[in-house]
Amino acid sequence: MQYDVCVVGAGPVGAALACRLASGGVRVAVIDRAGLPPMEHPDFDGRAYAIAASSKRLLEAARVWQSLPLPSGPIEGIRVSDGKLGRPASPLFLHFDHREIGEPFGWMTEARSLRVALNAALHAAPLVDLFAPAEASVARTSDAARIDTSTGASLQARLVVAAEGRGSPLRTQAGIAVTRFSYRQTGIVCAVTHEHPHHRLALEHFLPGGPFAQLPMAPSEAGEHLSALVWTEREPQASRLAALGEADFTRELQRRLGQHLGAIRPVGRRWTYKLGALHAHRYVDTRLALVGDAAHGIHPIAGQGLNLGFRDVMALSELVIAAVAEGTDPGAPDLLARYQARRRPDNLAMLAATDMLDRLFSTDNPALRLARDIGIGAVHRMPRMKRAFMTRAMGLA
Ligand SMILES: Cc1cc2nc3c(=O)[nH]c(=O)nc-3n(C[C@H](O)[C@H](O)[C@H](O)COP(=O)(O)OP(=O)(O)OC[C@H]3O[C@@H](n4cnc5c(N)ncnc54)[C@H](O)[C@@H]3O)c2cc1C
Repeated sequence: MQYDVCVVGAGPVGAALACRLASGGVRVAVIDRAGLPPMEHPDFDGRAYAIAASSKRLLEAARVWQSLPLPSGPIEGIRVSDGKLGRPASPLFLHFDHREIGEPFGWMTEARSLRVALNAALHAAPLVDLFAPAEASVARTSDAARIDTSTGASLQARLVVAAEGRGSPLRTQAGIAVTRFSYRQTGIVCAVTHEHPHHRLALEHFLPGGPFAQLPMAPSEAGEHLSALVWTEREPQASRLAALGEADFTRELQRRLGQHLGAIRPVGRRWTYKLGALHAHRYVDTRLALVGDAAHGIHPIAGQGLNLGFRDVMALSELVIAAVAEGTDPGAPDLLARYQARRRPDNLAMLAATDMLDRLFSTDNPALRLARDIGIGAVHRMPRMKRAFMTRAMGLA
């Protein structure tokens, strides 16, 4: 079986890449060690992604956005504030309004909704062959890659894409080194229904233990106001908080969120993620490209991890679709070098920015508190700088 591209790993990044390539006329094999059922509608589980405006355009081009089974909620405003636990937010805050840009900053999309739409699109795409659940064994030479699956299939491709997430075995096999570090923080992720509407406003509240974000979702299936929460805390405090009973957990959430949404009620599951950053020293090797978390992992402080992966997809798919249309080699070294040159600086800049934000804000140091309050005030007075932040977060710059 001959393919232009074999994508190993069908998480959101690998699956979106396969769909976008297929919609551009590229023949793709997709292998994932987990099953990818086409029709499963899992229950609400409390996880959601902030999909930036540029990522939405990619998902539209990949014919995925149109088939999301659940509505996404637009983010029309973002308020960044600084504070201390249990006290009102600092009067110095930054407010970003989508009317200055002309479209929502992004769309809160339930993780299960994106999964269902991606799986359905993978199954529907005539140029995609799926091998899942299956493990891949890959041998690459300068001419082509040979892939044997644990289910007995033997494939050939001009390019293999590693999209297996942070632990990427293909990256290790290629001898690509990574720099990684831990934030010694845990992200607690859950969702709450609330008494008052959120007015499509996202809140990022910087507390000494780490950032606390409230992200506006579309109403629940029962019509209640709904928000996703991403709450970062230092260890071991985080494990203790995540294990609290329902009433105590709700009280701790409310202390951080404040009263602007009225009474809250957690819904779905609680998820915890140990937070760390990772960056691969190279994104390419012979007939191999890394995308998404296999290449880079960042702090979730700005909700940009998946969006960076989608930007990898945009860059790589543009190059590969053009090569296949022209009848040139989609796994050629110069194409891979161009992909790396387009994506590494952007990803490294976002890693540095999110790292700096976390270090600057997740502290109670009085000198740093003063510096950031001055910084917030300065950005507030500089509309061009504010605009630059907004277009960057939307993936439009
Ligand atoms: C607390 C938290 C909140 C976040 N919020 C946001 C947000 O709001 N917005 C945002 O943009 N990002 C967010 N992120 C980041 C986002 O979750 C990741 O960047 C994203 O999931 C990466 O997708 P991926 O497809 O690259 O990898 P993964 O999601 O890790 O998918 C990897 C896939 O590869 C498969 N796989 C693994 N190993 C193999 C193998 N050996 N063979 C075959 N298949 C394999 C797996 O089954 C899986 O399907 C958040 C992260 C955290 C921790």
